[in-house]
Amino acid sequence: MKDKQALLRTLPKVDKLIDSLEQKEFFKGKPYQEVYDAVNNSIDLFRKNILNNTITSFSLDDIEREIRTSLNKSLEFQFKRVINGTGTILHTNLGRALFSEELAEHLKNSLIGYSNLEFDLNTGERGSRYSHIETLIAKVTGAEAALVVNNNAAAVMLCLNEFSKNTSVIISRGELVEVGGSFRIPDIMELSGANLIEVGTTNRTHLEDYEKAINETTSMLLKVHTSNYHIDGFTKSVNNKEIADLAKNKNIISMEDLGSGVLIDFSKYSLQKEPTILESLNSGMDLVTFSGDKLLGGPQCGIIIGKKSLIQRLKKNQFLRAFRVCKMTICALEFIFKQYVDESTAIKNNPTLNRILESTDVVLERAHILNSLLKTIGIEGQIISTKAIIGGGSMPNASLESYGVLIKNMDPSFIEKSFLKQPIPIVGRIQNNQFFIDLKTIHSDEYSIIVDSFKRILECE
Ligand SMILES: *Cc1c(COP(=O)(O)O)cnc(C)c1O
Repeated sequence: MKDKQALLRTLPKVDKLIDSLEQKEFFKGKPYQEVYDAVNNSIDLFRKNILNNTITSFSLDDIEREIRTSLNKSLEFQFKRVINGTGTILHTNLGRALFSEELAEHLKNSLIGYSNLEFDLNTGERGSRYSHIETLIAKVTGAEAALVVNNNAAAVMLCLNEFSKNTSVIISRGELVEVGGSFRIPDIMELSGANLIEVGTTNRTHLEDYEKAINETTSMLLKVHTSNYHIDGFTKSVNNKEIADLAKNKNIISMEDLGSGVLIDFSKYSLQKEPTILESLNSGMDLVTFSGDKLLGGPQCGIIIGKKSLIQRLKKNQFLRAFRVCKMTICALEFIFKQYVDESTAIKNNPTLNRILESTDVVLERAHILNSLLKTIGIEGQIISTKAIIGGGSMPNASLESYGVLIKNMDPSFIEKSFLKQPIPIVGRIQNNQFFIDLKTIHSDEYSIIVDSFKRILECE
C-alpha cells in the first residue's frame, strides 16, 4: 500500500511535463489542446494502472511513449482507407463502389475552386444542379427523364410521397424486403404517407392478386427487385410487363425499385442474369429507381428515371430539397455516366465492373505475386481457390471464382486483430481457423501495404 502511494507521488505533474515535452521536436507545432489531453489521459492511465496493480514501476520514457501513441491517434483521421481482403466487391461496410484514380483526379480538379453547380453558363443566370446530369442519364438509360437524390431509399420515399400519399400502393408479399442498415420497404412506405396493400403470399403472387386488390384508392403498383435474397422452389411472381400493362389499363402508376441498377447485361459475360435498367424500362414501367453505388459503380445516390411528366412532378416535391445531392455527387455521377456511353470504356475504367468481369487468371496472378512477396519476409502462405461475391445486396446467388493467400503457422485471430490496428487497416477473412486474403478485392498497388503490415506485426509477435 505504501509502495503504491510512493509510486503515485512520482507521477509527473501535467503542466511541468508539457513544458519539458514542448522542447522536443516531435511535439513542436502540435495543437496545445491535443498535447494537453494526451498528457493528462496518459498520466491518468498510469495512475489507474498503479492503483489496480497492473504496474509496479515505470519510467518517464514509458509515459512519454504512451503520450506519443495517444497523440498520434487523436491527430489521425477517423475515416480512412482500408484494404479489403474479404473478396466482397460491393462491401456495404467498406464503402461499396470504388472510385478510380481518374475520377478522384476529376473530383479534385472540379471541386478545388467554385463551380457552376447552380449557375447557367449560357445565360449567366441561376441554373439547376440537376441539369448537369439529367440529359446524360436519360441518354444512357434510354429514359425520358431522370432525377437524382441522396440514395435509393430516398428515391423510393420521394416517389411514394408524390404519387401515393394518402392513397394505396400494391406490392407482393414476396417483395417486402429489408436491405442492410434496416431499410425496410414497409417502413419507408409508411413514412411517405402511402397506404401499403400486400397481396399474394411469400412464395407465390399471381396477376389476379393485383387485379383483385385494385380499387378507387389505388395509385400505384410497386415492384421491388428482391436483390439480396432468393426464394427457391414453389414460387411465382408476376413479371414487369404484366404489372406495367395492368397499371396502364387501370390508369395508375407502375414503378420498380431495382436496387442495384445495372446497365450492362452480365449474362453476356457468362455471369448470372441480373435484370438491367433498360429491360425494366422496356417492360413499360413508368418509374424505375436504383442506387448509384451498387452495380452502377458510382457515388452514393439514388437515381429515378422514367416518364417525363412524372419526373416533372417529383421536381416540385418539397422532400426533394431535403434529399438533394451535393456537388461531389453530381461531379462524380456525370463522370461515371459519361463512361457508360460506351460499354467497353465503362468495363475497362470502372473499378467495380472491372473486378466483376476480369478473368480469374488475373486474380491467380495477383495471388502468386502476393504469396512470393510474403515469402521474402519469411511468411509461409498457400494459394487457395475461393468464392468471391459481388455483394451490395445484388446478385445473391452469384459467386465469382477467385483466389486467396492463406497464412500458415500464424494465429489467425492475432493477424486479424493486428491488421485492424495498422495505419492502413486490412480486413481479411478467417475460415477453418485460418486467415486468408482474397485477391479479388486487392489492387496491385496494395501488395506493399500488406507486406509492410506483416513486417510490423512480426516484430511485435
Ligand atoms: C440497396 C437497395 C435499396 C437501398 O438503396 P440505398 O441506395 O442503399 O439507399 C433499396 N431497395 C433495394 C431493392 C435495394 O437493393
